[in-house]
Amino acid sequence: MYCRKCGAKIDDHAQFCEHCGTEVVIVPQKSYAQKYQEQKRQKNHKINKTKRNKNNKPNIKMLKILILELLYLQRLFH
Ligand SMILES: [Zn+2]
Repeated sequence: MYCRKCGAKIDDHAQFCEHCGTEVVIVPQKSYAQKYQEQKRQKNHKINKTKRNKNNKPNIKMLKILILELLYLQRLFH
């Protein structure tokens, strides 16, 4: 890797730069592909949530219809 201060090439496991003495801070750098995948995942997560919500509404409607049908049937039989 390279020193963030002087840009000199230093050992991957070095704690200090051999050239300027700056402490080497290893910052986990994500590649663009990784970032893209994460964004994609987050977007998919949001889409899944909205899809779930959309699916819940017809279910509630179906339940109401079922209850109404049951009430209707009860009236018919009484
Ligand atoms: Zn350096």
